[in-house]
Amino acid sequence: MPGKGPVGEQVGIREEDARQVLAAIDPEETVEFLRGLVRIPSVNPEGDVRDAIAYCMKPLAAAGFGCRTVGIEETKPNLVAEFGQANGPTLCFNAHVDVVPTGAESAWTHPPFGADLADGRVYGRGAGDDKASVTAQVMAGLALARSGVTLGGRLVVNEVADEETNGTAGAKFIVESGEVRPDFVIVGEQTLNRVCVGEKGTAGATITTFGRAAHGALPWEGANAIEAMGRVVAALQDELWPRLEARTHPFFHHSSGSINMVQGGVKSNVVPDRCSVYVDRRLVPGEDPAETQAEIEEIARLAVAGIAGTRVEVQAAPEVRPATMSEPDSPLVRAMIGANQYLGLSAELTGFSMASDGRFFAAAGYPTIIYGPGDPRLAHVPDEWVGVDELLEATRAYALAALALIGGHD
Ligand SMILES: [Zn+2]
Repeated sequence: MPGKGPVGEQVGIREEDARQVLAAIDPEETVEFLRGLVRIPSVNPEGDVRDAIAYCMKPLAAAGFGCRTVGIEETKPNLVAEFGQANGPTLCFNAHVDVVPTGAESAWTHPPFGADLADGRVYGRGAGDDKASVTAQVMAGLALARSGVTLGGRLVVNEVADEETNGTAGAKFIVESGEVRPDFVIVGEQTLNRVCVGEKGTAGATITTFGRAAHGALPWEGANAIEAMGRVVAALQDELWPRLEARTHPFFHHSSGSINMVQGGVKSNVVPDRCSVYVDRRLVPGEDPAETQAEIEEIARLAVAGIAGTRVEVQAAPEVRPATMSEPDSPLVRAMIGANQYLGLSAELTGFSMASDGRFFAAAGYPTIIYGPGDPRLAHVPDEWVGVDELLEATRAYALAALALIGGHD
């Protein structure tokens, strides 16, 4: 383990504490914990995570954590495991134990709940998303407790249900109920162990073109809503997509849009009077959901303006939100970057392109970052895997960041 004292000191990690905590991480135990967790099929839907949560609670309780489960649905408990000094700052580790369905198992070469260990990887549904993060957080918590280092604050290990649906019974409940009131939040999702200062916003929209029905043999009697939609789609591609590509941000991928659903037509010989598409818009910090909606509306209106008998409507998705972002120079971001530097990992700041449970914490005003092992491109696909090395690095990085934020100081 590279002991880079000066880096640790910069972010308030005592060298002696760092050594003790890192020595308390057992690589074999960590890998086996992940494999055991992957073998528990906590598929959402239905999202029953009772076994997975009990599995996480057991070693934490044994190591002296005060543990409770809280929630609003019997099959979707959330773990709140606390350790340390209640009168200091509170750091919350959050990740989710539910996983998406496997899809056709014939597409897998490793059984989805077999937790195969091969080529330095653990395979299985949830190996990366999100059980590697859960494992690293639980193991980092255990290392802090077992090492005997003095803490000046409190660690809350919060492993939750329901992330893969909408978080209502999981992180949303945790935040809204006030079950956890942290000073810092590290949400574990697949970031390749890079520090994500926040996550993109979203502002989806359903665009509907309306025309007039007619017999398919007499199309001039009608107004074809699908053909009108063709113009709208082309206009979005020609005008909006290039604009979004130009909306860059130093930490995030550029702004984006994608037409992900289409619906239209009633029969092969009927001119359609209605067609809808769903536009998935992802926002970088600085973009306003209402403005992005108006932007789509204007382009769609102009696209059908010259087509007789047609009009267009745009309706916002039920949940729209701006991007979230923690201050790059905040104690939380500096602690996580410091941990990565200590370990010789990436010191680059990035943004999370997907949505995470971090949005609930960030919206409530809690400083929140996203960090975890695994590649987001492997999430939700067959033969999902996580590298053993990155799992262990994440465990160490979480533990060091915790020392920086809630460790004892001279
Ligand atoms: Zn996830």
